[in-house]
Amino acid sequence: MRDANPFTEWIVKVAQPCNLACDHCYVYELRDRTWRHKPPVMAAVTADRLSRRIAEHARQHALPRVRVTLHGGEPLLAGPSRIERLLESLKRELRGTAECDTSLQSNATLLNPSWMDLFRRHGVSVGVSLDGGREANDRHRRARNGRGSHAAVQRGLELLRRPENKALFAGLLCTVDLANPPLDVYEALLAHEPPAVNFLLPHATWEHPPPGHDPMRTPYANWLLAVFDRWYTAPRQETRVRLFEDLMDLALGGAVRSESTGLADTDFLVVESDGTIELSDSLKATRDGGAATGLDIFAHDFDTAARHPVVADARRGGLTALSDVCRGCEVVRLCGGGLRAHRFHPRTGFANPSVYCADLRVLTTRIRDRVVADAAELLGSAS
Ligand code: SF4
Repeated sequence: MRDANPFTEWIVKVAQPCNLACDHCYVYELRDRTWRHKPPVMAAVTADRLSRRIAEHARQHALPRVRVTLHGGEPLLAGPSRIERLLESLKRELRGTAECDTSLQSNATLLNPSWMDLFRRHGVSVGVSLDGGREANDRHRRARNGRGSHAAVQRGLELLRRPENKALFAGLLCTVDLANPPLDVYEALLAHEPPAVNFLLPHATWEHPPPGHDPMRTPYANWLLAVFDRWYTAPRQETRVRLFEDLMDLALGGAVRSESTGLADTDFLVVESDGTIELSDSLKATRDGGAATGLDIFAHDFDTAARHPVVADARRGGLTALSDVCRGCEVVRLCGGGLRAHRFHPRTGFANPSVYCADLRVLTTRIRDRVVADAAELLGSAS
């Protein structure tokens, strides 16, 4: 067996609950129920052990830099003192070993000036989940009482965009909904001046296909390409869009490390509030316990996790991890079979093309052809 690449990123579930109840949430609204048995917040002893484990892994692999993303549920529900304690523990353990880029993925509804003071002190950047303007966002992103979250998110974003905080604004994460017109969504996101935007396809499997799924049509590709065309032809860069940039890099022969495009191994793990080590949250869309590994940071270091067959299998890139159909596909180097969770079928496991296959084929082909043609023209005019 080849040696696994080290992990360089940890997604840390500092809080399990969420103050919203978005109906497309892959943690709480799909197949997984393991969160019910986990502590609502990460205890100090777990946070300390996590920091030591990350530092140990960084030392063993001479990693100059690691990334830690504070996640939930809604991570701000962990409270400022618990979060600050974790940040200090990471700093202490990693001192002299590796730099730590820390970020937080939040719905931003609970952001306030004292949170921003804390994040400025510790250099924590903040990514915000937002699905577009009020109507688009509130279609799914609502509180338990049905009230939309857009107004509260907007307040959080205004705080984040103040001059003293702007450098910590990491960007917006938007889940695609075909009911929302793509350019309206994109423009509503741009109104917040995000340095970066990323688009997520709704988590789905062959057993539970996404809304509007029809292998003979490509509605998700059409939606994304409408945004791509606008973004790519804008007279000046409006924002970065990771999905598009990754596909462009891959089209031009570059290497990209992403769980949703390309053929590279993934390099991250999830650590839950009880210290259990899990795979990507997206696998929670496949079945109850779909992201579980049976490992935890008290009993296992991250090298042990890397060698564990469940982990090794889930993070493996390359063609051998894919179905015969994907291996023979013209765009496999860009598409990579899509997100692993989206390949799942209860009978055949992950040995399938993505449930978004038709969309991914059109999306990757169109972006590749456009970018390669433009690069060739540029080279031609320069010679
Ligand atoms: S487009 Fe479809 S067949 Fe091709 S790599 Fe992607 S999922 Fe596999």
